[in-house]
Formats: sequence, structure tokens, C-alpha cells
Amino acid sequence: MNWNRIASFLFAKPSRVKMVKVCPHCGSTKIKLPPAGMDLKMTMRDYCQNCKFRGNFATVEECKLEDFRKRINK
Ligand SMILES: [Zn+2]
Repeated sequence: MNWNRIASFLFAKPSRVKMVKVCPHCGSTKIKLPPAGMDLKMTMRDYCQNCKFRGNFATVEECKLEDFRKRINK
């Protein structure tokens, strides 16, 4: 039996589509994220290094990044 094949079938879903965080203001993907798994996450929020926006960022598929940027540049 081909166990690798079964494993890749079971776990393929999350890794196939790459999600990126995008700034809803300027479309930059240079988002500074708080360190994962730390209590700091409660006080430190995601932060755009380009336009200094702080708050909730959109998460889009990497292949749809251009579409997203076009939309906010209107
Ligand atoms: Zn920004």
C-alpha cells in the first residue's frame, strides 16, 4: 500500500491554497503579525508595515491577491 499517497490525500487541503493577509487600505502584504501562541496576541494586533494600519486584515488566497488590490484601488 502507498501510505504516502493516502496521507497526502488526507492532509492536502490546507497546504494547497496559500492564504495571505492583505491590508484593506493599501493592499500591502507586508503585515507584521504578533508572535504566535503568546499572550501578547491579546494586546498586539496585526500591523501594516506600509501604511501603519492596525486592525482586522483581509485574508485572501494568494492567486486572488491581484483581484483584491484592484478592488481597493478603485
Ligand atoms: Zn496598509
